[in-house]
Amino acid sequence: MSEQVKCPHCRSMLILNPGCTACAGSGVVEKKLFNRYHALATKLRNKIQIPYKYFEIENLVLINISLSEDPNRYQEYAVYRRDEDGGGYTKIESITVNGTRTQRPILRLVALLMSISKQPLSDFESHIRAYDDKLTADEFEAFKVSFAAYEAAY
Ligand SMILES: [Zn+2]
Repeated sequence: MSEQVKCPHCRSMLILNPGCTACAGSGVVEKKLFNRYHALATKLRNKIQIPYKYFEIENLVLINISLSEDPNRYQEYAVYRRDEDGGGYTKIESITVNGTRTQRPILRLVALLMSISKQPLSDFESHIRAYDDKLTADEFEAFKVSFAAYEAAY
């Protein structure tokens, strides 16, 4: 069996949450996966990324949509989720990664991302309707290509 660690979402609630989507109520998550999310959350939290910089993790794509590169302003990411059939991506959430209100922001961010990736899409229905933002697999590939050119010239 692969090594496991305490579920960051349950930890942030301070009690084992039977309805937790991040760990399906088991209280633990795979250590390797947790470490990947933790590394990403640390990067998002501590380093200002260039506009449209994107990150892929599990079924999520995060795209930097911050209006400013000032670290004292909110750093904002659009969160897209890959459709089950792998045919495209749907914007389901927009998250702030550098809030100062929480005591353990990195762990909170890990918990948030891990649960977003597992939560049923129906939970985001009103968001999905409001954002009305989908990318086909081809559009995402085209975005990656144009971002690479943009990043090289930045
Ligand atoms: Zn949990």
